[in-house]
Formats: sequence, structure tokens, C-alpha cells
Amino acid sequence: MRAGIGWDIHKTTPDRPLVLGGVRIPDAPGLLAHSDGDVLVHAIVDALIGAAGLGDIGNHFPDTDPALKGISGAAIAARVLQLLGGKGLRIVNVDCTVILERPRLEPHKAAIQASLARLFDLPPGDVNVKAKTYEKLGAVGRGEAIEAHAVVLLRRVHAEEPTPAKGAKSAAAARAAKSGAKGAAPAAKSSARKPAKPAPSAKAKKAPPAKATSRRGTTKRR
Ligand SMILES: [Zn+2]
Repeated sequence: MRAGIGWDIHKTTPDRPLVLGGVRIPDAPGLLAHSDGDVLVHAIVDALIGAAGLGDIGNHFPDTDPALKGISGAAIAARVLQLLGGKGLRIVNVDCTVILERPRLEPHKAAIQASLARLFDLPPGDVNVKAKTYEKLGAVGRGEAIEAHAVVLLRRVHAEEPTPAKGAKSAAAARAAKSGAKGAAPAAKSSARKPAKPAPSAKAKKAPPAKATSRRGTTKRR
């Protein structure tokens, strides 16, 4: 098991919509950022990257990269799931706290929890979302910023894949993204080997038997 901690803060702006955990929150100022400013996803992703021993979110998503301008929390989450898959790691649970003065998050918490579960390929019960205020103290208390904290736990599902040729790696990543999107299990398992890019169903069928069996023992799905 590997634990990770994450934190993020963004300044509020009336010029953008507020997105938290992939959920658009109506009637609230948004967050300034190079990305879509999803401070909650960023905190969780930072925790995941830390737990995996891969540095921090800035190493992987530099805010100087024009290609990442406006990138959504969902896209960042998908990329991080690929990274974790490549390291043979899977998320056990996520606990997170959003700190903001307004709006009240209570009515949105269930939607945020469900959204995070989708983004990070987890059962909703493995994602916990808390909301707090700063009791009017400081920048967050004045409504000038929103802050988020996250703690995550990862478990190893199989050995880290040997770093393959570049093409193979990106194909594995694409598959990991697919499996992440639908919560399917076997994709991560069969990744490193076949760079082709079969449809998920095809892949399941033609997974090379030798390898599938060799990995099956160590890959336990929740
Ligand atoms: Zn951020």
C-alpha cells in the first residue's frame, strides 16, 4: 500500500464557471488557472502522483505547456490513471476536502462524489468528499480563493511494466484510459505486451493465454 497527500488552491474569478470534481457548480465564481481550474481534481491527482512516487502534478502537467491550456480535470484524471496503470498501481480510496466560503457545497456533494468515482474508476463508496469553510479567515474566507486537500491510498496489482518502446507505451496508456473510462479490469493487466490497440472486447478475447495466466495470479480486482 502507498499513501499520498495532495493540496491545491486557485483564485476565484467571476469570468469562469466553477468546476469541482468534474461537476459544474452553478451561480458561483470560477477559478483562475491555466487548466479549467478544477482545484479538487488537482489535489487528488497530486496525491495520486505522490503516492506513486512520481513527483507532483506540476511535473506532469506544467502550467507553461500551451497544449494543456484549459485542460479539464477529467482529462488530467484519465492521464494519471494511465500513469498508475503503467506502475501496476490501483487506487484503493480517495478522501478529500474542499475549503470554500461559498457556495454551500452540501447540495452538490453527492454529484461530486459520483463524478470523482467515474473519473478515477472507483466505486462511489471509495470516494469521500468533505466541504468546509475557513470561518471567514484569510483569502479563502474572503471568497478570493478555493482550496482542496486530498489523501489517497494505492495498492499494487502487478509488477511495474518494463518500460517498453515509446509506441508500445502510448498504446498501453490508451488502453489504460479506456479501462479507466469503463471500469473494466483486464485492460491494465494486458497492457505492456501488445501495442496494437484492439477494441476492449476484442482485447479481452484474444488476450494471449500464456501471459494472461501468468498475471492472473497477482491481479486481484475489487
Ligand atoms: Zn490546480
